[in-house]
Amino acid sequence: MTTPSSNENTVLDLHDIALLLNYERASTEPRFRYTKLREVAQPGQDFRTILTPASEWHEASVPRTGFVFEKSTPKTSKERDEPDLPTNMLAPSPSPAELALTSTQLETYYWQARNHDGCFAAVALFQNFMDLFPASARIRVRTLESPGKTIREYTSSLQDRCILEFNLINPRSMNMSVVLHNSKSYLTGCTPSSIHAVIGFAEPGSGVDVILDLASLQFGDVGRGFRGKGLFVLEPVDQYENRLDKFAEQNTFQDLKMSTRINTNTTPNNDWLKEVTKRAKRRWDNRHNAHWCGHCGAPPRDHDLKRCGRCRKAWYCNAEHQGAAWPFHKHFCADGGK
Ligand SMILES: [Zn+2]
Ligand SMILES: [Zn+2]
Repeated sequence: MTTPSSNENTVLDLHDIALLLNYERASTEPRFRYTKLREVAQPGQDFRTILTPASEWHEASVPRTGFVFEKSTPKTSKERDEPDLPTNMLAPSPSPAELALTSTQLETYYWQARNHDGCFAAVALFQNFMDLFPASARIRVRTLESPGKTIREYTSSLQDRCILEFNLINPRSMNMSVVLHNSKSYLTGCTPSSIHAVIGFAEPGSGVDVILDLASLQFGDVGRGFRGKGLFVLEPVDQYENRLDKFAEQNTFQDLKMSTRINTNTTPNNDWLKEVTKRAKRRWDNRHNAHWCGHCGAPPRDHDLKRCGRCRKAWYCNAEHQGAAWPFHKHFCADGGK
């Protein structure tokens, strides 16, 4: 039995790690654990099944989307171990047909809710995970230049990264998730300014040139990476700067705060994040035996993942997830015609 993680030549692929961390984070997110989606208030609509006391909701001047979640109690150990996923997030009633949501909408709403205030949790998780690797480990950064035709790829040291905190002023959308039974509600985009933390990476000898934003979908579909299909953002810094304009009217890119580490002891739900870190590390160590989906990071569950027929080096839950990952993967698919 080899221990790949202690190998001197360990190379962590940033895209693959991001998939893994986000899947493990979202599928057990404590605020939404065992909740089912019962209602969606689309922009221009109000909630039908609840009265919301939040004045921010009523006074919103930007498009707002609302979600009502219901907590369910797992009865068996099988139910307790079941991850929360976009595919199992609908309450039995009303029926999916009544809500008339597409699988892409469900996916967006799933990530929007779970990424509420999620940027620091994501940054903390990334830091926890990287702390499990030796200082000699390397990180491979793969991204696409606009308009997605040129590959930028490099390998740098784990230390060649920093945390960037942007101040987003006047958000362009609002969303609110109400969790019934514990009467909690979570509002994104309701304050005139908010701090958004992401991770920056640098090619050896240069400044920060690539941004990883694991919580980008809290702003809805405008937070989708990889040609509007991905579930997080991994892109050159100039593209990310343009993207920030979609999140908020203004962002203080000029005087942003930079740091190398955050104090995870003050991160909410730190014990849960430690558990997530351990699970992700176990899966990473076992990566040659059990792969994960190149779109959503899911492990093989009821059935094996399907392999990319061209390179045979990428795996997907199904054809839909393969299609969603293709705008990124096609540039790295071994037989991609390059
Ligand atoms: Zn998938
Ligand atoms: Zn391929």
